[in-house]
Amino acid sequence: MTVSPPSPYDPDAGASDSGKASSRRRQPRIVLLGMGGTIASSAGVATQLHDYTVTDTVEAVLAAVPQAHELADIRCEQLANIDSHAIDNAMLLQLARRAEAILQDPEVDGLVITHGTDTLEETAYFLNLTLKSAKPVVLVGAMRPATALSADGPLNLHNAIRLAACAEASGMGVLVMLNDRIGAARYVTKASTTVTDAFRSFEHGNLGEIAGSVVYLFNTPTRLHTLATDFSLAAIDELPHVDILYDYQGAGSHLYRAAIDAGARGIVLAATGNGSLSPAARLGAELATQRGVMFVRSSRVGQGVVTSLADDESLGLVAAGSLNPQKARVLLMLALGRTRDFRLIQGYFDRY
Ligand code: ASP
Repeated sequence: MTVSPPSPYDPDAGASDSGKASSRRRQPRIVLLGMGGTIASSAGVATQLHDYTVTDTVEAVLAAVPQAHELADIRCEQLANIDSHAIDNAMLLQLARRAEAILQDPEVDGLVITHGTDTLEETAYFLNLTLKSAKPVVLVGAMRPATALSADGPLNLHNAIRLAACAEASGMGVLVMLNDRIGAARYVTKASTTVTDAFRSFEHGNLGEIAGSVVYLFNTPTRLHTLATDFSLAAIDELPHVDILYDYQGAGSHLYRAAIDAGARGIVLAATGNGSLSPAARLGAELATQRGVMFVRSSRVGQGVVTSLADDESLGLVAAGSLNPQKARVLLMLALGRTRDFRLIQGYFDRY
C-alpha cells in the first residue's frame, strides 16, 4: 500500500458525508516523547562517532528538523535523557504508562518516541504488547550522534514524524523507524553495533519503507499486538525479575543457581542452536523447574525459530519460537503476571 505525502489531517476522514462534523482540515497532532540515546547525543568533533554523551533535549533534537513542522503539529515531552542501556523495568513501566495516557487523549493522533538504539527493541516490543490504542506509535533512534558528519538522526526523526502522521500506520502495532525502513516491534532487532543500517527484520521482513517522502507499507504484522493482547498496564504493579543466561562450551550450572537464589521468577536461555541444552543448562532447567522458576529456551543464534522439543513437556520448558532472548524476556515478564502454567505461557509465545 503506497501512502502519498500526508494531506492535512481530516479527523472526520472515513465518516459518512452526513456524519462529517465539519470540513475543517488540520495537521496531524503528534506528541514527540524524548528518552535520550545517541539521537540526542553530542561528541567533541564531527568525526567522533563513538564515545559521546546524551546532551540534547527533545526540543533541541526537533529543532534540527524544522521541516517536520510541515508534516504535523508537534508537542514535545521529555521523560528521560539517558543511554537506553540504563533503562530498567521501573522506567519501562513509567514510559508505557505515559505513552498510554498520551494516546488516550482524543486530540492526539500519533506518538513518536526518541530512544537509544541499544535496547530500543525491548521497549518497542513491551509497548507493542501493552498499549491499548490503534494510533501510530513510532520509536526512532540514531546510530551516529547529532554532531556527527552525516548524522542519521535528523532524517530518521523526519521519517518517524511522517510515519506517525500517516493514518494508514494505525493498527500496525508499534513501529520502528531507522534508515528509511519501517520495522515491526515484534520482528526488528539491532543486528550491527555501529552501521547506520543496524536494524534488521531478516526472515520476518520489514513492514515498509519511506522513499522520496512517500510512506510505502508492504506488509502487516501477523502476531497479535496492542488492543489484541491479554496484557494491560492497569493490571501491572511491577515487572518480575527475569534473567537471561548464555550457553556455551564448558558452561557451568552455577549461574543458574545464582539467578534462582537472587529471586529470578523466570530464566531465558540464549542457547546454542535450536535451543539445545548443554549438560549445565539442562541441570539449570531442572533446578529452575524444581524451584518454580519458569524456563524459556531462546537461542544465541539470533535468527530462526526455536522449536518445541520432546523434553519441554517433561521438564516444563517453553520454546521461544522466533523471539530473541531479550524479547523473550519481555514477553515472559508479562506472561508471569498472568500465569505460572508453562503450557499457557507457551501459548503466549505462539501468539505474540
Ligand atoms: N549507542 C546507543 C544509541 O545508538 C546508545 C543508547 O542506546 O542509548 O542510541
